Amino acid sequence: MKYLLSPEGLKILESFCFTPTLFAFDYDGTLTKIVRDPSKARMPDQTSVFLKVLNGIAPVAIISGRSKKDLETLLSFQPKYVIGNHGLEGLRANEGSLHNAREICLKWKGALTGKLKGDSGINIEDKEFSLAIHYRRSRSKSFAKLLVLETCGELTPPPRIIMGKCVVNLIPTGAPHKGMALLELMLECNVRTAFYVGDDDTDEDVFALPDARLLSVRVGQKKDSAAQFYIERQAQINEVLTRIIRFLKA
Ligand SMILES: [Mg+2]
Repeated sequence: MKYLLSPEGLKILESFCFTPTLFAFDYDGTLTKIVRDPSKARMPDQTSVFLKVLNGIAPVAIISGRSKKDLETLLSFQPKYVIGNHGLEGLRANEGSLHNAREICLKWKGALTGKLKGDSGINIEDKEFSLAIHYRRSRSKSFAKLLVLETCGELTPPPRIIMGKCVVNLIPTGAPHKGMALLELMLECNVRTAFYVGDDDTDEDVFALPDARLLSVRVGQKKDSAAQFYIERQAQINEVLTRIIRFLKA
């Protein structure tokens, strides 16, 4: 992984601004800080302003694990594209597959509620088409994580499990993921290149795309990540956004 804000990284970022490019971002931990209460994760005013400016001059997308409905209540403006549920609520989401995902999640939720209710620090977030089991408030996070994973291992049909920061995401297998959502958006926007920033394991579905047309950035350096570049901390997203705006306006 190379540092995006190095002279070499900035040169590559600049080159992506010469051609029509889609600028896509994860939400939590990327455009906002990770906070204890996820319902309070709002973008800082400055980030919101920069993103709005960018949205006025280039196609912008937010691709998040949150439900689309939830995201839209947190955003102070609507970027051109908002994709929810790890890509499941994407551009080509069809009623049949959404209905299927909803039914599976209801079944999982029923099975999990009984088994996990003994631990007050664990809560199941129902995102309609996927579930997120949070254990940030648990007294023993390592115990809670094991308990959640063990319980999820017994579910039918077996979910695709993606670990996050103090959260276990359960997604119906075969459902579209963030990488597929990004490729769909590129087709929709008629662009040849895309830029993506994310901070978590679900973003690896984008980072791992075998696509030379993508410039991928992780918030935080990580040895086994497939992202090409990194920034050191979430707050640097403001500098990334201002650099892009400056390159595009040059
Ligand atoms: Mg994130």
